[in-house]
Amino acid sequence: MASAAASSCSSISMMFLTHSCGATSSTAHRLLPPGCLRHRLHCHPLQMGPTYLRCLTFHSSAAEPPSPPHVVLPHASLTTEANTKVIDGKAVAKQIRDEITVEVSRMKEAIGVIPGLAVILVGDRKDSATYVRNKKKACESVGISSLEVHLAEDSTEEEVLKHISGYNDDPSVHGILVQLPLPSHMNEQNVLNAVRIEKDVDGFHPLNIGRLAMRGREPLFVPCTPKGCIELLHRHGISIKGKRAVVIGRSNIVGMPAALLLQREDATVTVVHSRTNNPEEITKQADIIISAVGQPNMVKGSWIKPGAVIIDVGINPVEDPSSPRGYRLVGDVCYEEAIEVASAVTPVPGGVGPMTIAMLLQNTLISAKRMHNFE
Ligand code: NDP
Repeated sequence: MASAAASSCSSISMMFLTHSCGATSSTAHRLLPPGCLRHRLHCHPLQMGPTYLRCLTFHSSAAEPPSPPHVVLPHASLTTEANTKVIDGKAVAKQIRDEITVEVSRMKEAIGVIPGLAVILVGDRKDSATYVRNKKKACESVGISSLEVHLAEDSTEEEVLKHISGYNDDPSVHGILVQLPLPSHMNEQNVLNAVRIEKDVDGFHPLNIGRLAMRGREPLFVPCTPKGCIELLHRHGISIKGKRAVVIGRSNIVGMPAALLLQREDATVTVVHSRTNNPEEITKQADIIISAVGQPNMVKGSWIKPGAVIIDVGINPVEDPSSPRGYRLVGDVCYEEAIEVASAVTPVPGGVGPMTIAMLLQNTLISAKRMHNFE
């Protein structure tokens, strides 16, 4: 087991970033105005932009920095010298995109329907425009059609609602995303609530989350990032049933739905958050750890039970003068220490990140299949 002292995890400093909500902080999430929905949603990987570096990994697959050095094996993992599997999210995401491509073409041939994702972009933010472009590219790569409406910054909320209503009624559209942040004169919650639940491919609608939380109910869509975490476990044959799982973080977009998903899979779940006493002691009991905090290298080797499986959702830019950009991205988990203790671990970048867009595409396909009763 690696000692914390021997690791470089303790000697990093997090970068100070300007957040779209106006907060400037190394831990922007913690200092945001309470209830800043724009923050939450802007930071969703499907909504985020390059001004917020914690979101950078997802902003553009082309822009994603290189993963830690490991090879891509057919089963999408690498066994290290310490016998720890590195879970290669890029490879799994590619596998899933390939599967989606096949299904999209099968559907087109069988019933002549092409799944469609509509994106509404308001204003001239370059980061938003780039992200919309990337989503379109991802759709194209699997054969999903993408529609986009681009409205001026000074458009009214009513105009946006009118377009949502149009997409709600358009049978060629199976998923709708509103690119955030919206201009400040618009009420994001109103806008997002206007998306029909059957087309809510982000899975954030309260009805979808409510169903996720209730036994015997099925959500129409599961939020993309937590869904991607569970998919990584499934595709690596890691059983969840009966396991002790700890989710670190309880946000609406990652931590909370991840905990609900693990519970649905019959894990015994504990949620650790910023007010938890003894997080290390609790986390050390876990067979499976999902960390979605936003604190670089918070989870040390000493927090990890030998043989535990670690899914690191966190994406944190830290100063790195040796990098041409002056920073690099690290997770919430000290990777160098985790690799010595865990049985499997996701790297950052290249772990959970690539899964999020794959899950968006999958949700869009699921939606189209459901609407057309296509098995
Ligand atoms: P939020 O800031 O919304 O939530 C962070 C959570 O972590 C909160 O529940 C908070 O607790 C908890 N927390 C903060 N500090 C501590 C601490 N010291 N100890 C224990 N818990 C703590 O973040 P998100 O959920 O949106 O994102 C989390 C991380 O995941 C970020 O790094 C983000 O960039 C990344 N991310 C990655 C995605 C991917 O696809 N890989 C997608 C989305 C996010 P409390 O509730 O008490 O405040």
